[in-house]
Amino acid sequence: MSRFLSPRFAALEAYTPGEQPRDQQYIKLNTNESPYPPSPEVFERLNKDEIERLNLYPDPEGKVLKEKLAKLYGVGKENIFLSNGSDDILNFAFMAFCDEERGVAFPEISYGFYPVYADLYHVPHVKIPLKLDYSVDYKDYCGIEKMVVIANPNAPTGMEIGLFEIEEILKSNPNHVVLMDEAYVDFGGASAVGLIEKYPNLLVSMTFSKSRSMAGARLGFAIASKGIIEDLEKIKFSTNPYNINRLTLAAGEAAVDSDGYYKDNAKKIIATREKTVEALKALGFTVLDSKANFVFAKNNKITGADLYTQLKKKGVLVRHFEKEKIKDFVRITIGTEEQMEVFLQKTTEVLAQR
Ligand code: PMP
Repeated sequence: MSRFLSPRFAALEAYTPGEQPRDQQYIKLNTNESPYPPSPEVFERLNKDEIERLNLYPDPEGKVLKEKLAKLYGVGKENIFLSNGSDDILNFAFMAFCDEERGVAFPEISYGFYPVYADLYHVPHVKIPLKLDYSVDYKDYCGIEKMVVIANPNAPTGMEIGLFEIEEILKSNPNHVVLMDEAYVDFGGASAVGLIEKYPNLLVSMTFSKSRSMAGARLGFAIASKGIIEDLEKIKFSTNPYNINRLTLAAGEAAVDSDGYYKDNAKKIIATREKTVEALKALGFTVLDSKANFVFAKNNKITGADLYTQLKKKGVLVRHFEKEKIKDFVRITIGTEEQMEVFLQKTTEVLAQR
């Protein structure tokens, strides 16, 4: 830290992203990326013509992409906000919809960025424990009189809450934004998007990073009432109007045009997930019920930290969190069938030595 940093940020603890190692080729099951490449349409779209236009700024409103997304999700284009990854939406939402007086509540075990944003903006936050079975108890959020942020499906557990529960949270907090982070919704979860007309306080965030194989392009979007979208636009146009670059916008348009390709990939990932869950259970793992492209699993024979280290030595990267309540677990992103076979083989080898 230099002596120039404002004391406002002195105690801030930044988010630690999952490892992106360059030292060797790993089977990378640690940051919930898709194992499949972008669609052929995306390859075609990112051509010489597109590169030639890089001298020009991108459309700060992303009109074409907004129209395509609006059509796909059955909403108006005034209900869509585009962002540089969905982290951008979270950042803007914490900046815009809560403050020192209006706090925020989120699950104690969830996406590690939520408390960082809360600290960044000096927002008092309540971390609500999960139930003993690691699920979110919606009743804890009803009438809480704060902004509510829930990843659904939750990370790193993969578990989801239903639309009935979400409606109860929305109804009981009419004066606060309820942000449903649906980064993983395309792997079998139920989206809350259909509720935006009924609930002006609902903000749904989604991403191209997972089911749409574009984590490296940084593209996210939010769906909400016109008012909430206007607020987010205000923040975006007060910070960085060109927050989505030209190539990413073009790739996003091509990706929405090839929605069927990504739906098929999501189906494949779900099928691989179910096979992996069965295989892990057969190896003695406890596996939480996942609706995401990852599973959260533990085995009494080995600690989470040890399993992570031993798998890394064998060229397989999974994610381990040091937090007391989940330190026995590892989070395993679902890769291709072949990658998961190697993962299971290496896991079997590690367990055999215990
Ligand atoms: N929400 C959750 C729950 C996540 O796990 C992630 C991925 N790290 C994000 C949002 C952000 O993803 P991105 O910025 O790539 O859209």
